[in-house]
Amino acid sequence: ELRVGVLALQGDVREHEAMLRGLGAHVVRVRRPTDLERLDALVLPGGESSVIDRLSRLTGLRGLLRERVRDGLPVLGTCAGLILLADRILDAAPGQETFGGLDVLVRRNAFGTQTDSFETALVTPAIDGPPVRSAFIRAPLVEEVGGGTAGRDAAVEVLASLPDGRVVGVRQGDRIGLAFHPEVTGEDRFHRLLVEAARRWADDTAMERTARDMP
Ligand code: GLN
Repeated sequence: ELRVGVLALQGDVREHEAMLRGLGAHVVRVRRPTDLERLDALVLPGGESSVIDRLSRLTGLRGLLRERVRDGLPVLGTCAGLILLADRILDAAPGQETFGGLDVLVRRNAFGTQTDSFETALVTPAIDGPPVRSAFIRAPLVEEVGGGTAGRDAAVEVLASLPDGRVVGVRQGDRIGLAFHPEVTGEDRFHRLLVEAARRWADDTAMERTARDMP
């Protein structure tokens, strides 16, 4: 059984849990460092990124989370989760930092008051089937893709954009960041990508363990 963590400090934890259980994963609510043990993937939910950042320090999770992401653990971040995964952010709250992991520049609260929240169909080259319906709630926007100095395992790929071309979803290695909330509209295809990556991660880890235990 795959063990998928959902960072449960603040935000829409339950929606992600429901989605992951629907895909057959065992869900672990991550609230303290020991919860990070033996995870095959991790979800960073939507919510308020500056609050999640602050709570991650208070709980002693922050350093470990950064490490896991750096090690290549598959991660899906939605909205605030995308902000937390971004290497660089604009309009941060005072003192706010991110975990990093995606070589992108993300602007918080990028959509004006009138369009604070909206639903729309997206352009999603890597997703088969009917159009992705997505909910944007005080959403961030990816303003730059790549261009950072941090060496990473793979290039950044655009997973989703608005019809006008603005980027709202990216993937780098097995890290996915989305400006919108697929978990709110019952859209499970991004969670499926995460679960597939979790399966590969679990297999690789099992293989490493076997290799290590071999005389
Ligand atoms: N505006 C929030 C932030 O900056 C994100 C909103 C959301 O996750 N729906 O963290």
